[in-house]
Amino acid sequence: MNLDFVAGKTFETIDPRTGETIARVSEGDKEDIDLAVGAARRAFDHGPWPRLPGAARAKIMHKFADLIDQHIEELATLDTLNAGKLFSWGKAVDIPSVANTLRYFAGAADKIHGQVLKMSRELHAYTLLEPIGVVGLIIPWNFPSTMFFVKVSPALAAGCTMVVKPAEQTPLSALFYAHLAKEAGIPDGVINVVSGYGPTAGAALTSHMNVDKVSFTGSTEVGRKVMQAAAASNLKTVSLELGGKSPLLIFDDADIDQAADLALLGVMHNKGEVCVAGSRVLVQEAIYDEFVKTLVEKAKEWVVGDPFHPNSRVGPQVNKTQFERVLSYIEHGKREGATLLTGGKPAAETGFYIQPTVFTDVKEDMMISRDEIFGPVMALMKFKTIEEGIKYANNTKYGLASGIVTKSLDIANTVSRSIKAGVVWINCYHGFDIDCPFGGYKMSGFGKDFGMEALHKYLQTKAVVTPIYNSPW
Ligand code: NAD
Repeated sequence: MNLDFVAGKTFETIDPRTGETIARVSEGDKEDIDLAVGAARRAFDHGPWPRLPGAARAKIMHKFADLIDQHIEELATLDTLNAGKLFSWGKAVDIPSVANTLRYFAGAADKIHGQVLKMSRELHAYTLLEPIGVVGLIIPWNFPSTMFFVKVSPALAAGCTMVVKPAEQTPLSALFYAHLAKEAGIPDGVINVVSGYGPTAGAALTSHMNVDKVSFTGSTEVGRKVMQAAAASNLKTVSLELGGKSPLLIFDDADIDQAADLALLGVMHNKGEVCVAGSRVLVQEAIYDEFVKTLVEKAKEWVVGDPFHPNSRVGPQVNKTQFERVLSYIEHGKREGATLLTGGKPAAETGFYIQPTVFTDVKEDMMISRDEIFGPVMALMKFKTIEEGIKYANNTKYGLASGIVTKSLDIANTVSRSIKAGVVWINCYHGFDIDCPFGGYKMSGFGKDFGMEALHKYLQTKAVVTPIYNSPW
């Protein structure tokens, strides 16, 4: 790990609880990306990693996971300090689950094999699954640890080497993971972390001629640029996990208490900075009024406060830009004629805290119903029939996630097949599991993270063909 980049420049990283600078971090640029890609290329073309038996790669990955377990407190602290994430959640869920992500893909490292094919002629053929090569992994700031391992783990298992570009807002835990990777025995050049900005370091990675694939998680707007850069350079393959404006459909037969809890969990979790946030809550008309009453009561349980405090459920937005962006959407909502039911204001004098906010009387064409806000802001709408609910749910350019609350198996079956989204959570929300493929439909991107589909993003298939008899073809 080399923390001194070529130009010697640094940038500030802040604590969103106060807005104060907590560290200065080396700012990588194009030259640093060149060096990192060069190191990854050498490690791929000549180093041991892609050539090790899968079980040997797995052993090192397990060691890496064990080291993460030994540093849970420090890692959870870094993500709370740098991203305003709840410390209790990081310690109990986020950090242990990244160690398990490594273990899950380590378990696959020695089971990567092709197939023997049944050819139609006198040929013997089989396929080899080979690592795709040097991969560029570009990640956002909302889940700095989860996003790092969702990409790094399958790439490691596949035998790839990589350059990771963490978000400029949250570089700290990624730098610690680079240090732990070395301690675990991951060979030099396999994981290279370059902290820096998107338009410079990130863009250099996406347009690099020596990078074979880019796996990107971030906004739809930048996702488009990533694809353009890949097309304009070496036609590297791309996978994109992008934004969302996910609907939660609550039907007349739902348990209102459970539905209100799920609706709040859907959009307030991680202060709404979640790509799958259930930010559009669509409620069938017969229970609408009662649901609203329950929801407003329960919103009070989402206590805003210092993310290190065990009672806090909503921490600060990641930085001033994000804080102001969310507040400006709230102003738009009011101007467009939606009714503010609760919240709508900053929640503290210092830091980037925003009250959990719920709008009702939201219309389909309002900005707060169309745009990804990425904050604790819910848009509530009423629908009459199942068909109308489905129509509203699908009326978005995005298709990342969705939820349904109902006791009816018929409704659950019909609606889950009609929604155009990568996941449908029935009577739950944020039901993630490392074994469950995750990724979008429509403008939420393509290519799955999690599950064995993620491993295959970092592999390519080669066919090997030979005649069975001594014939030239
Ligand atoms: P962003 O698109 O601004 O940035 C994401 C990453 O891309 C950062 O590392 C950034 O430095 C880099 N980047 C920016 N410009 C670039 C460029 N021109 N070339 C290459 N890289 C560039 O997104 P963000 O604000 O960090 O994150 C929020 C967005 O991410 C939201 O839209 C959210 O929905 C999405 N997100 C999606 C998922 C998912 O799995 N689908 C998960 C988390 C976040």
